[in-house]
Amino acid sequence: MKIMQTLTFFAALLLTTSCNQAQQAQQSGESPSFILTPAGDSIPRIHKSEKEWQAELSEPEYYVLREAGTERAFTGEYWDNHAEGEYVCRACGFPLFDGSTKFESGTGWPSFYAPAHGYSVEEIKDSSLGMIRTEVRCARCGSHLGHVFNDGPKPTGLRYCINSISLKFKPE
Ligand code: FE
Repeated sequence: MKIMQTLTFFAALLLTTSCNQAQQAQQSGESPSFILTPAGDSIPRIHKSEKEWQAELSEPEYYVLREAGTERAFTGEYWDNHAEGEYVCRACGFPLFDGSTKFESGTGWPSFYAPAHGYSVEEIKDSSLGMIRTEVRCARCGSHLGHVFNDGPKPTGLRYCINSISLKFKPE
């Protein structure tokens, strides 16, 4: 009987500790490990070490996707791509933008007025380079994509200004 009591005590202690860890992760602002879609699906987020990303990506890909670099305007693969299809994350393949929302911004970077889904991207305040901008990242793997501005066309008025090298185009 004594053994049972001791075991129960340790089981309860273990449970309390793991609950606290989950709570701490939530309080520290870490993203939860799943993306919840409006349809009720949960998509696991991808967490990799920078060493792993470095091994998988080319140098210019790593610079933009993992170090939030920017490719030179008019040099990327997709700024002038007008084909129908979808653009997925170059790092993890998550669907990010649809060709039907792409528009001619004249900036030299692929520009979209909306992400493919409400849960496709994460938007984060960015105050680097002495400007206040909104950074756009892949919601599944956290890789840097570009920035979003308020000077886009209808129907959203938004301009998602995205590096070609952060995307992979899949023709329809
Ligand atoms: Fe991704």
